[in-house]
Amino acid sequence: MARVFNFSAGPAVLPEPVLAQARDEMLDWHGSGMSVMEMSHRGKEFESIIAQAEADLRELMGIPANYKVLFLQGGATLQFSMVPANLMGVSGRADYVHTGEWAKKAIAEAKKYGAVQIAASAEDRNFSYAPPQAAMVLDPKAAYVHVTTNETIGGVEYHWVPETGAVPLVADMSSHILSRPIDVSRYGVIYAGAQKNIGPAGLTIVIVRDDLLGHAVKGTPTMLDYKAMADNQSMLNTPPTYAVYIAGLVFQWLKGVGGLARMEAMNREKAGLLYDAIDRGGFYSSPVQKSDRSLMNVPFRLRDESLDDAFLKEAKAAGMIQLKGHRSVGGMRASIYNAMPLEGVRALVAFMADFESRHG
Ligand SMILES: *Cc1c(COP(=O)(O)O)cnc(C)c1O
Repeated sequence: MARVFNFSAGPAVLPEPVLAQARDEMLDWHGSGMSVMEMSHRGKEFESIIAQAEADLRELMGIPANYKVLFLQGGATLQFSMVPANLMGVSGRADYVHTGEWAKKAIAEAKKYGAVQIAASAEDRNFSYAPPQAAMVLDPKAAYVHVTTNETIGGVEYHWVPETGAVPLVADMSSHILSRPIDVSRYGVIYAGAQKNIGPAGLTIVIVRDDLLGHAVKGTPTMLDYKAMADNQSMLNTPPTYAVYIAGLVFQWLKGVGGLARMEAMNREKAGLLYDAIDRGGFYSSPVQKSDRSLMNVPFRLRDESLDDAFLKEAKAAGMIQLKGHRSVGGMRASIYNAMPLEGVRALVAFMADFESRHG
């Protein structure tokens, strides 16, 4: 069996021990005589799986007791609608920080629910940086401030938490949740699609502070109401059971690795190696301001873009796939999530040097 180094932005690489455990438990989970896929979501087996997953996530992230953890569907994209549907009602206005492609989509959906103010934007420099606190014009009457804390396509990450006073901060953390410790209490809502740094597609995690429940605008479908989901332990209907199970195995793996502080050290080592390789000469370059470079998604360009196709082809032949940049940005992008082993980044860096020596 030959596994590739998969630098996909998502669905993305999963920890090999997790996949191996899922394989071992595929036909018979813990003596139940069933696959997790075949279990009733109301049965005691699955109830123990989802309860353990929640407990492990709470432990890993240090989620305070006054926050609910929801296991939902519809991806981060549905949260672009659920956030305003649940939160905007009170004042009918919200602030959004415009950081790039994903923020743009969140803004477009929010506009359907009320007045959206762009509190700050990085459009002036092609979304190559995270707008600083001083650039944010915040409305004290806004129902919330929305920030995309890691722009997966642009490769821009907030390495600090915007200060929003009494206004709840809402964060789309899809592509860097669990990559390092964060202070959950600084946020009103945190959401993330699972397929980047948590588990399989089909699961979305929402962490929401208690006082923000119960304010959905009239007409909000029950399935999209945070409170209805919280009141029913995310089981208003059948949850994505197998995705929850795999996410739970990933949380166990993270605990085994040593938790999020340890994960951050490993992620810094990997990202450091890759950015050093990009910055070393003039052959490769990063479009992102140094202070705001993502530890998870690393876009880079070749000086001569006519070599792009050769780079991708040769990388693939060397066992490294999904390095093509997003169509809106071009160039290359290496996503190096938690589950990307150090050896994968070492192999990429070695390949980049070799490619340069032959084509530079
Ligand atoms: C991938 C991604 C999304 C969209 O996620 P889906 O689960 O496909 O809806 C939204 N925001 C960010 C930051 C992402 O990386």
